[in-house]
Amino acid sequence: MANQNKVEIPKPKEIKAYLDQYVIGQDRAKKMLSVAVYNHYKRILHNVVDPVDDGVELEKSNILLVGPTGTGKTLLARTIAKMLMVPFAIVDATVLTEAGYVGEDVESLLVRLLQDADYNQAEAEMGIVFIDEIDKISRKSDNPSITRDVSGEGVQQGLLKLLEGSVVNVPPAGGRKHPEQEFIHFNTENVLFICGGAFEGIDRIIAQRMNTRVIGFGSEDRQKIDDDKLLQYVEAQDLRKYGLIPEIIGRLPVIMSLDNLDRKALKRILTEPRNAILRQYEKMFELDGIKLEIEPEVLDIIVDTAIKEKLGARGLRSICERIMNDAMYDAPSSRRKTFQLTADYAKEKLGA
Ligand code: ADP
Repeated sequence: MANQNKVEIPKPKEIKAYLDQYVIGQDRAKKMLSVAVYNHYKRILHNVVDPVDDGVELEKSNILLVGPTGTGKTLLARTIAKMLMVPFAIVDATVLTEAGYVGEDVESLLVRLLQDADYNQAEAEMGIVFIDEIDKISRKSDNPSITRDVSGEGVQQGLLKLLEGSVVNVPPAGGRKHPEQEFIHFNTENVLFICGGAFEGIDRIIAQRMNTRVIGFGSEDRQKIDDDKLLQYVEAQDLRKYGLIPEIIGRLPVIMSLDNLDRKALKRILTEPRNAILRQYEKMFELDGIKLEIEPEVLDIIVDTAIKEKLGARGLRSICERIMNDAMYDAPSSRRKTFQLTADYAKEKLGA
């Protein structure tokens, strides 16, 4: 993407194929995301790089990923940025505060984008920002007169400015230590914002809405909607009820949900992605001249533990670390050429 004069945007199918190498499952989200990202950069080409004066100004569409923790929201955003080779920044919405309060100003996320672009402003202005935990800055109720959570709403207002595309004053390199430097006028018009959140409890809001809608049908019809899959029906009105302000929702027109990862998916995550966790351990041992042999049952033990700990795929690595740590400590100073990772060994290390 760096060379603006000769940009080729990968097609949605190519983007999806790339994501498939790193992200397991989440097919629906991967497809939607591929289209949204393609459209975003096509829009930049149409409006900015090679403008066609046909009176049609394509509007920017930021993206909202709704899904439980450890299902791949951050991974998706990061992988897209890697594929397109555009600057990328991750920020946790909960550290952001209204200007003047303790914490980070909303503008600070643009500083991170600039840093990732080595202060090449033109590149940073076409980058991707992932805003995590957007659900945590919700108002606590959709009835503002009852519990008005001013700070959450203030941050949402601050974010809104960035999401809708505007010129924002960003402190220069070095920040406040060099007050004599001019502010950078950063245009967020072409920055793609991908927001993510678990929106815990939103399934109840969705269920409530859907139940009222299917009124008149037999209760059997209602049963057909699998509770676990409710998230895929998430709509703007549910987010509003959850506490996002309507203006923010309006700037996140592409809403997609991620599924909870089941046993099969977690097992695949351990071995299949290009940089799968177990592949990394094999590589690490290989560098010491040792062949790591893993009993198939070990995968089940790891997955069972991850499910028990309810951290989605996020827990997999630390579980593997717990199992492998002693072996990684001993192996390099031993003369063995293979290390057998057995189910019994794994259980012992996990204290199971
Ligand atoms: P989230 O942002 O949804 O909380 P992350 O994307 O940060 O979750 O995932 C945490 C880790 O779990 C990632 O670094 C990745 O290794 C792994 N992971 C999560 N979901 C997937 C997936 N669908 N496919 C492959 N790896 C995954």
